[in-house]
Amino acid sequence: MTAQTLQEKTKRPGAGPAGLRRAPIGHFIATYHYIRERDSDGVTGITPQRFREQILAIKSQYEIVTAHEFSARAADDDRLGLITFDDAVKDQAIAAEILDGLGVPGVFFAPMRPYSDEPDRWCAQHLLHALAEHLGWREFERRVEPHICGVEIDVAKMDALYHYEVPHKRRLKFALAFAVPPQQAWAILREINAEVGLRAEDWFMTEAELRAVQAAGHSLGGHGFDHVPYTSLGPKAQAADMQRAAATMTRLFGAMPRMLAYPFGRYDETTEMIARGCGYTMTLGTDERVDAKYVMDELGRRGQGGI
Ligand SMILES: [Zn+2]
Repeated sequence: MTAQTLQEKTKRPGAGPAGLRRAPIGHFIATYHYIRERDSDGVTGITPQRFREQILAIKSQYEIVTAHEFSARAADDDRLGLITFDDAVKDQAIAAEILDGLGVPGVFFAPMRPYSDEPDRWCAQHLLHALAEHLGWREFERRVEPHICGVEIDVAKMDALYHYEVPHKRRLKFALAFAVPPQQAWAILREINAEVGLRAEDWFMTEAELRAVQAAGHSLGGHGFDHVPYTSLGPKAQAADMQRAAATMTRLFGAMPRMLAYPFGRYDETTEMIARGCGYTMTLGTDERVDAKYVMDELGRRGQGGI
């Protein structure tokens, strides 16, 4: 029932000594971002058809439950499934319809800047995706390069964080998300977009769509306000972002217990404490979740008696 649930569960024998925040043994938490027919230079996802197949496959091995039920039961039960979506991008409206058709609940982790009164409602990461899609990767890279040419890159950290990304895109993505300060990355992307003119409201689900998703029995969860890695912020800035995100979600979508997925899966002990203080029932990084890309392999592995 508390944000400690995952940790408590992992203290059970067999969880692994280093796995303070690893997935509770025996559950399956899938993560989705983009769900569309075709990838672009900015976006890699899976097709609606593959998404549907994955949900059916998860459903055949696990009991897929709501976020509230998962928070309540994860510590005591085994073989629960949780279908999670990060970023509330427009593609996910299709995913919600597919889930509705299958009678399966999901949890949609939404950053709050796109739903705020801010004059610029883009989060840097999504503006990056949108610009790369719109301009094509080479042109996008050409425009960003002059701003990041002197930035030092920790290659091992980059490869670990962006293992899912094709190598030639890792450097720029890592540089903007982790090597330059968030405000600077944002300024670079905004400057480029000032000429291009892409609108956040065309990229994210609308407030009405999110409300409909919640009304259909899915959950909305926290995903920060600005969608920056919390480890790149000091404690005060972390608190400011998370409090603002929680307050905005409560104002727009109602007060109720919610889960939190850390943007980029990044957090430290301070982040955890702030999250508890903001009332989140459970926090998720990336280690305890299975990315869409690996869902079928992971199901196969676990089905063969892995875990
Ligand atoms: Zn995200």
